[in-house]
Amino acid sequence: IEFKKNVSDIVAEIEQATIDTFGTIDAENFNWPTNRIECLEQLTFFCENLLVHFGDYEDAMHTHEKFLFHSRLSFAMNTKMLAPQEVVDKVIVYYFDNKDTISISQVEGFVRQILGWREYIRGIYWKEMPLYSKLNILENYNKLPHFYWSGKTNMNCMQKAISQSLNEAYAHHIQRLMIIGNFSLLTQLHPDEVDAWYLGVYIDAIEWVEMPNTRGMSQYADGGIVATKPYVSSGSYINKMSNYCSSCHYNVKEKLAHNACPFNSLYWNFLDDKKHIFATNQRMGMMLNLLNKISPDELAKIKAKASHIIENPDLY
Ligand SMILES: Cc1cc2nc3c(=O)[nH]c(=O)nc-3n(C[C@H](O)[C@H](O)[C@H](O)COP(=O)(O)OP(=O)(O)OC[C@H]3O[C@@H](n4cnc5c(N)ncnc54)[C@H](O)[C@@H]3O)c2cc1C
Ligand code: SF4
Repeated sequence: IEFKKNVSDIVAEIEQATIDTFGTIDAENFNWPTNRIECLEQLTFFCENLLVHFGDYEDAMHTHEKFLFHSRLSFAMNTKMLAPQEVVDKVIVYYFDNKDTISISQVEGFVRQILGWREYIRGIYWKEMPLYSKLNILENYNKLPHFYWSGKTNMNCMQKAISQSLNEAYAHHIQRLMIIGNFSLLTQLHPDEVDAWYLGVYIDAIEWVEMPNTRGMSQYADGGIVATKPYVSSGSYINKMSNYCSSCHYNVKEKLAHNACPFNSLYWNFLDDKKHIFATNQRMGMMLNLLNKISPDELAKIKAKASHIIENPDLY
């Protein structure tokens, strides 16, 4: 569904007030619902057109698809134009009326996101704040690269996910977690900087839901309150879940070559740097065993490559 609203007057007002902004806006085609009727239209559109494939493709990423089968309902719920209960109820009723065309796994996936993740995240925020906002268990202190504000990078996955975020104020969950969040954690950015970026960029970003997702699930700065292990991966996961790598400047199969995918050396470097913290985490056992199998020589080269990326992220 596209709303194509003209918000030029508001944009002109903001410009006149010389307020600093980032990203871009198509002021004549603003694509978000801004009242309850439009939010209900969006919910109906989701049920009728997207629910049928939601579960199958919720973790997929594609260069030409910004929204795929995602509902884009977080903004409506977070601003209280829709109640989460009514979204879940409507989807379940729609499923029972259309069982011949929609499978239970699509509906289960969607309901779990709201009833499971959204409520869980809300509970964590109110239970753990205000201390939560200061946690930095992995002791990461690096600064945000400049390209987070422009999308100008040779890494196709980062270029697509960041540009889309700056243009649409939206990226779906796996783009936020396994592309931008993954790179941020692998390059050991300060969670305060990552938090501030996510809070500023996304249309649905309100602190209670943004912070446990960013600082907790994505950056593991809470030491495992939200997630039982850090969400990090090399390029191979990104290659499996998307078509980004096939048109990237970098080669996803390479670790050390000059055109090697940056995620590959960064991944092993991260595991090596933080292995003392994860030594007792059973879910990290397999990854740390694989790390142990890399020869000291090879590991030294990987770490040198990763250090160069970490020190010069804007060159990549
Ligand atoms: C680093 C990071 C930061 C995030 N920041 C925010 C944020 O500021 N605000 C926000 O609403 N969501 C946030 N999320 C969760 C999730 O990415 C978005 O809710 C989702 O992408 C919104 O798009 P959608 O409505 O199309 O979701 P769909 O894929 O259609 O999912 C349906 C609904 O499930 C809920 N949901 C799914 N996952 C989560 C989750 N992890 N936490 C809370 N609700 C969830 C949302 O309300 C969403 O609308 C973040 C996730 C990560 C990894
Ligand atoms: S090759 Fe690496 S940098 Fe390029 S799109 Fe794939 S994962 Fe991203």
